[in-house]
Amino acid sequence: MRKMSIAVSILLLALAPSLRRALLAAQTPSHMPVAAPYPQPDERFKADILVIVAHPDDETEITGYLARAIFDEHKRVAAIFGTPGNSGGDAVSNAQAAALGDIRITEAREALASFGVLHVWCLGGPDTPGQNVLHSLETWNHGNALWQTVRLVRLTRPEVILTWLPDFVAGENHDDHQAAGVIATEAYDAAGDPTVFPEQVAAPDNRQGVANLAEGLQPWQAKRIYYFSDADNTDFLVGKGPEYNTTDVSPSKHTPYYKLAAEEMVHHLTQDDTGQLAKHALATGDFTYFKQPVRLALGKSAVANTSLTGDILEGITPGAIPYAPPRGYRPERRTGVSVELGGPWAFYRDFWRAHNLDGVSELLKTPEMSVGNGEQVHIPILIRNDSDEAAEVTLTSTLPAGWKELHGTARYPVRPHEAYTVRAAYVSASTAKAEWQTLNWKAESGGRAVGDISLRVRTASPGLPQ
Ligand SMILES: [Zn+2]
Repeated sequence: MRKMSIAVSILLLALAPSLRRALLAAQTPSHMPVAAPYPQPDERFKADILVIVAHPDDETEITGYLARAIFDEHKRVAAIFGTPGNSGGDAVSNAQAAALGDIRITEAREALASFGVLHVWCLGGPDTPGQNVLHSLETWNHGNALWQTVRLVRLTRPEVILTWLPDFVAGENHDDHQAAGVIATEAYDAAGDPTVFPEQVAAPDNRQGVANLAEGLQPWQAKRIYYFSDADNTDFLVGKGPEYNTTDVSPSKHTPYYKLAAEEMVHHLTQDDTGQLAKHALATGDFTYFKQPVRLALGKSAVANTSLTGDILEGITPGAIPYAPPRGYRPERRTGVSVELGGPWAFYRDFWRAHNLDGVSELLKTPEMSVGNGEQVHIPILIRNDSDEAAEVTLTSTLPAGWKELHGTARYPVRPHEAYTVRAAYVSASTAKAEWQTLNWKAESGGRAVGDISLRVRTASPGLPQ
């Protein structure tokens, strides 16, 4: 537009709007082309709920709720599996390892397709049995898994993310489950930040050309994240988030949600504890397992007026919201010598603070784990010396009856400002009953107590399902 004098501008303002528009249009060069509107995100992939789990069949933990959300509330659901489940058993054939992974991810696609969920991805991490989340983060290639997950959050633009609880619990406590919860939380906090994987949100040079190396997605801040747990007993989640009754009857399907959940689960036939369980329930009519409520814990919310136990989509209106940065890692100020559980427990203490998961940090009053009978157990214990002087720290264990120490009780030299991880090792008692026991450690330095640690252990836990 040509520059206008002040007098002309005042004259234009005095004119009627229609005349003003006509005069302004007359000043626009007719040869100037009008650009096309900017491309919008692909609406076909928009999700209300993004489920991020570890193994094909993990989604069955919440299908009693998903049936309600999909069939009766018409919510769009997408799902991400961290691993194809290649280490699980096979109740149908001899297929194992990579072949089993191919089968199980197909079972998951068929199961979710029966619920109308067609947008399903697998991060391709190896199925890693165990209980230490750090092991799965290592084998999954943490950076690669997060890179993929952030992309899928930006593609599906979920209002809410549902995932496994990032915590160490007594129960199945699969390290892959925990890794899914960690990566989902990190992706929730990263997808709205354009400086994280910026290549994903850079505009391509020519989207209709070939070989573009910018992905053209947009940053996305999901509005809430909720967790579910594979703990033996999930009573600690009561009141920490919404609870969905599965015995209600679906108005659209005229079937209880628990039966719809069994009909989804039966696609996982390779798995004794899910597909075969559902097959038996559907054959016998015994749906006891499926009648448990679906319990969720609110991780955090990026929108105002979030009630702890309200529906996961309560009060959420569609559309983008500003990025809600997490607090981020801040080193704790420590002085002197101290002791704490190390390994995954130390990681989670920092992780919860960095990601504003204050509610999660308060779920379990005392750290816990489950241990088989007569099983060798390794407990990482972190001795910190935040003083300027070298310290000798004496660590002593107090064990339940029947336990045997292999390594742990000793005097440890710790340099100034050093964190020394002790890999304490024990063999649990070979008792046959399931019960809670407690392991205790005391630390002394320079003739005075510098800390103690308690760990609740549930013995005689069943083996780890995959
Ligand atoms: Zn699993």
